[in-house]
This record gives sequence, C-alpha cells and structure tokens, in this order.
Amino acid sequence: MTQENEPCSQEIRSLLHAASQPLILAHIRPDGDAIASVLGLGLALQNAGKKVQMVLVDAVPAEFKFLPGSELIHTQAEAGYDLAIAVDCSDQQRIGEAFADLKFDFNIDHHITNDQFACQNLVLPEQPATAAVLAQYLPEWGFPITPEIANVLLTGILTDTIGFRISNVSAGTLRLAANLIDNGANLTDLYEKALVSQSYSASQLWGFALSRLEKKGRLAWTSITLEDRKKAGYAGRDDADLTNVLSAIEEIDASILFNEQINCKIKVSWRSKPNIDVSKIAQRFGGGGHPPAAGAEINGSLEEVQNMVIEFTDSVLKKSKGEN
Ligand code: AMP
Ligand code: MN
Ligand code: MN
Repeated sequence: MTQENEPCSQEIRSLLHAASQPLILAHIRPDGDAIASVLGLGLALQNAGKKVQMVLVDAVPAEFKFLPGSELIHTQAEAGYDLAIAVDCSDQQRIGEAFADLKFDFNIDHHITNDQFACQNLVLPEQPATAAVLAQYLPEWGFPITPEIANVLLTGILTDTIGFRISNVSAGTLRLAANLIDNGANLTDLYEKALVSQSYSASQLWGFALSRLEKKGRLAWTSITLEDRKKAGYAGRDDADLTNVLSAIEEIDASILFNEQINCKIKVSWRSKPNIDVSKIAQRFGGGGHPPAAGAEINGSLEEVQNMVIEFTDSVLKKSKGEN
C-alpha cells in the first residue's frame, strides 16, 4: 500500500464495513475488468452478509456469462441502497445517464485520467486493472478471497492486460495473480474463456471490419459499421476485441478502431506502442484511458469522425518523431 492512499483506503474500509445495502456500478459497454470489479467486490460484500446491488446498465455481454455470479448483475438499481460505489470508471458520465446525478461515496479505479468524481477516490494508475486494485485491498480490508472471487478478479487482470502483455504489468501484478491462483483461480481455464475463444459471429465481424483496414505511415485503422454488425449477426455493442488485433500490427506505432453506434456517435479506440500516450489524444476528444489504450465517444458520421481523428492522431505521431 502506498502511503498517499492510506487515509482514503482506511476510510473506504470503514464505509464498506458500516454499509448494509451497498450499490456497485461500473462503466457502459462493460469490459472484463468492469465486470470483474463489480462482481469481485459485490461477492466479497455479499459473503460478509450485506444486501448488495450490482449494476451494469449495458448488462453482462454473453462472453462473460461464464463468470460465477454474473447472473446477480442487473441493468437498473432499486431504491434503498446506503452506499454508492463506482469501480473501473474514470468519470461519472461513463456510468450511464441514469446515474449522472448520483453522489458516489467512493470510486476505485486505475485510469490515469480519473477526474476524482466521488467523495473518496482510490485511484492507482500504476495498477493495470481495477481487479488488481481489489486483489490487493480486499484482504487488507478484511474480506476473504474465495475461489469464486479469485476467478473473477484474475479474469479482470487477464483481460485488461491482454494476457499479461501490456507494459504496466509488473512483478507485483504477477504476485497478485499468483495469490489469486493460490486462492483457487484457474489460469488456463480463464485464459481460454476470456481471451482465446470467441463466437463465429465475432470472427465474421472481424472479417468485415478488417476488409477495410488502412495504414498511413505508422498509423493503422479500420471501422465496425452498424451494417457489419447486422451482417455478422453480432449482438454486442462492443468491438469483439478487434482492437487487440489492430494493436498487434508490426509496422505501426498506433492503431484506431472506429465503432459506429446507433445514437449517431462513433466509439473510437486508440492503442499504441510504448512512448506514445494515446490517453492525451482521447482526452482532446472528450474521452480518456491509459497511455497505451484509450477511448472516446464522438458525435458525427463515421466519415467525419474518421477524418478528424486520423488527421489529429497522425499529427501527434509525427510530432513525437520530431517530424512536422
Ligand atoms: P476501449 O477503447 O473502450 O477498449 O477503452 C480503452 C481504455 O480507455 C479503457 O481503459 C477505457 O476505460 C478507457 N475509455 C474508453 N472510452 C472512454 C471514454 N469515453 N471516456 C473515458 N475513458 C474511456
Ligand atoms: Mn474497463
Ligand atoms: Mn480497467
């Protein structure tokens, strides 16, 4: 535990033990870490005898329904909670419109762009996943890591680190993961379910999107259109992990995925190699994230947003290389 987080962490510990009906929320279009953080903390509090509400406004995507307790997550909250907690959220807008005015008692996160929207903010940007923050703190706060919680939290760490391959994975991350395995997490099983296996429709979606893959200099990009989604029969609003495929391209420094949404917005996802901070680029468009992985939702048509974002990102890449 770092000293600077000590007072905040002690306050959160007291709030958690005093609450009897906590509400836990994470961000829209939940990824593995958002789901794992809601479930990991939720199950721990439930095991301590509390009446817990776990809420994700966009529900748990089919590919994460294997997680123990995922059926306990709802898309709406009921009145009557006595503690409001946000996990894995850099800002309150990302939780969903229904919760835009809720006063959060605390927020547990790892985004460097976190705007500290809650009364207490436990934000550890050096951790590669909010699930890793919880794996560290739950035992310190007096909540045992059961095998279910261990499996859930390791899934969050595995998905946000893309299988331990992003640059802020440290020896400490591997120690936390080893501890989760000691507590009953099955690494091989989770790796297969959370990172390797995917549906046929997701594979088709990749195919449609990759057929439009483009590259200019050290930047590659493509898009997922609403039409692609329909043709592939892909139900989720997410990108079926296509960003991970783009980020693996050897000849580039950064990649962008444009994901067309039904509300005339384009979800933009940036990924970059070390030394290129895409969180700053995403912030310029009202989004946020981490130096190597960031996102934003931008109003406009696919073409408008693509042109604007590619031009700006390309200029940042050129500046970082000392070109004009
Ligand atoms: P994504 O591109 O959605 O996989 O997200 C990459 C990273 O950026 C994740 O850590 C997200 O939490 C963060 N992120 C994505 N979209 C936004 C947004 N609109 N505002 C703030 N952070 C975001
Ligand atoms: Mn997340
Ligand atoms: Mn995360």
